[in-house]
Amino acid sequence: MPIPVTRPLLPPLAEFMPYLEKVWASGTLTNCGDMHRQLEKALADYLGVEHLALMANGTLALVTALQALRITGEVITTPYSFVATAHSLLWNGIKPVFVDVDPATFNLDPAKIEAAITPQTTAIMPVHCYGNPCDTAEIERIAETYNLRVIYDAAHAFGVEDTGGSVLRHGDLSVLSFHATKVFNTFEGGAIICPDARTYRRIGHLKNFGFVDETTVVAPGINGKMSEINAAFGLLQLRHIDQALARRAQIDRMYREQLAGLPGITCMPPRGDGARANHAYFPILVDADFAIGRDALYQHLREHGIHARRYFYPLISDFPMYRGLPSADPERLPVARSASLRILCLPIFPDLADAQVERICELVRLAGREPQAPAAAIPAEAAAPAVADVAAVAA
Ligand SMILES: *Cc1c(COP(=O)(O)O)cnc(C)c1O
Repeated sequence: MPIPVTRPLLPPLAEFMPYLEKVWASGTLTNCGDMHRQLEKALADYLGVEHLALMANGTLALVTALQALRITGEVITTPYSFVATAHSLLWNGIKPVFVDVDPATFNLDPAKIEAAITPQTTAIMPVHCYGNPCDTAEIERIAETYNLRVIYDAAHAFGVEDTGGSVLRHGDLSVLSFHATKVFNTFEGGAIICPDARTYRRIGHLKNFGFVDETTVVAPGINGKMSEINAAFGLLQLRHIDQALARRAQIDRMYREQLAGLPGITCMPPRGDGARANHAYFPILVDADFAIGRDALYQHLREHGIHARRYFYPLISDFPMYRGLPSADPERLPVARSASLRILCLPIFPDLADAQVERICELVRLAGREPQAPAAAIPAEAAAPAVADVAAVAA
């Protein structure tokens, strides 16, 4: 059985039955029923945020968040993310402007944002990549100076806190994904976190075709509602989330201990003030002094049934619908490019066993030794003339 990079948190099926019975008894399957209301309330309490609007998925949440703030023109964003971040802009007829990332966090580099602002710029869409908080203070300063809105793609940041509280309180809006691959899942799902009741109400209209009441439609809204079944599953999931996060933290510690000091392998250090991390991913960097390249390590693990993933390779700016943009020029995105060529996310999920973590680390260590045996068999002197010959030819 191959080990995937993640496996959804699935509580025992028997625990879900009482929720299903309630849905059946109510006869309400969607359109913001009881389960939907309960989950919005429970999640806002758990996350420590004021208003939370459930959505059918994270992508529709991003698309709707942009519409809620009436964003147009150009939006500054990161090329180092899941493709849905930039897609949400295209779905709104907005031009993405890619800005390079910070070398320590791979989050949007605030030092490079100002140079990308034009008269058409209306907003910034940063991503808390791997659940590591962005430099929210600096992004806020820039947004205030230039009168820009900030929408955080917080798809990776469920439950993440800095010393001031939930990272979801930053910016004008934050967007969560509850996709099956995320830390907290409702099979498919998402949410928009907003600071005021007025925006929450507008999102309520936008996710329901623009309906305000039976006969009034105020915007060309989408159908972005979460169903009662998905919401019910979220309520069950919430009962298990603390345990799941604790297990992720253990796995994270095991990886760091077992991969420590391995030449050419760097475990990405947790960022922010680390008040509360969610260990959504376990990213490592494979550098030139590792015995084999990143893609060879990826392949090696795959051959042994370990499905590590190259999040995020390729960069969003390399996909055909983006690569023609001036801001997608690889020369302008050297840090993101370097990250995407070195990154590998190792499996991490609550049901991953200690023995599996050990096996993955052992496979990485063995891969690190692989070509050294044949290389050592060739004496250094024997190799030297060949290099000289090449040099002579080149001259
Ligand atoms: C998963 C993800 C999304 C999309 O969320 P869905 O719920 O799958 O639509 C958007 N942005 C990022 C960074 C993601 O990881």
